[in-house]
Amino acid sequence: MQLVFATNNLNKLKEVQRLIPNHIKLLSLKDIGCFEDVPETQPDIEGNAIQKAEYVKLHYGYNCFADDTGLEVEALNGEPGVFSARYAGPQRDANDNMDLLLENLKSTTNRNAQFKTVIALHLNNKIDTFTGICEGEITTNKHGKAGFGYDPIFKAKGYDKTFAQMDLELKNKIGHRGKAVQLLVKYLNNI
Ligand code: IMP
Repeated sequence: MQLVFATNNLNKLKEVQRLIPNHIKLLSLKDIGCFEDVPETQPDIEGNAIQKAEYVKLHYGYNCFADDTGLEVEALNGEPGVFSARYAGPQRDANDNMDLLLENLKSTTNRNAQFKTVIALHLNNKIDTFTGICEGEITTNKHGKAGFGYDPIFKAKGYDKTFAQMDLELKNKIGHRGKAVQLLVKYLNNI
């Protein structure tokens, strides 16, 4: 089976590729000649995932899945949430985003946060969604060099390392996207 993963984020492709069974051939947006920005203009994470999967199906005809992720911080009423990529501005810079988040949490002791990933699968003209959540906390400083985005300042519950200090295998096992992908894989294995 061929399935498009609607992303150009090589880190994500690498993470997800390792979890998908071998009989499913994953294609990236580049592989299908999609070089434009796929719109993600919905007010929530689930809406964005569905919008992206529908766009690829409509314009390119492929069965497809798309993911959208947000970091939801309790003390900030769920922010940055759907704005995680552009929290500190349109430059979408991970360091700027982390600096702003650390600054906004400076005066609070509640560091609880969770990553939420929604995957929307558009397969044979039907849409299904799969949600993965990873609870944890925001550290006071950045630690580690692996991963991307907010990884250096997020510690999953029960672990004393940030995501950026973990190897990919462990992050995939306990992380939001890994959990959502595991649900997707279970579904694909049963059709
Ligand atoms: P996206 O919608 O999945 O591209 O995610 C939106 C933003 O959330 C990204 O630009 C990152 O800043 C952040 N993000 C998503 N997944 C992760 C992750 O696994 N670790 C750290 N940050 C992430």
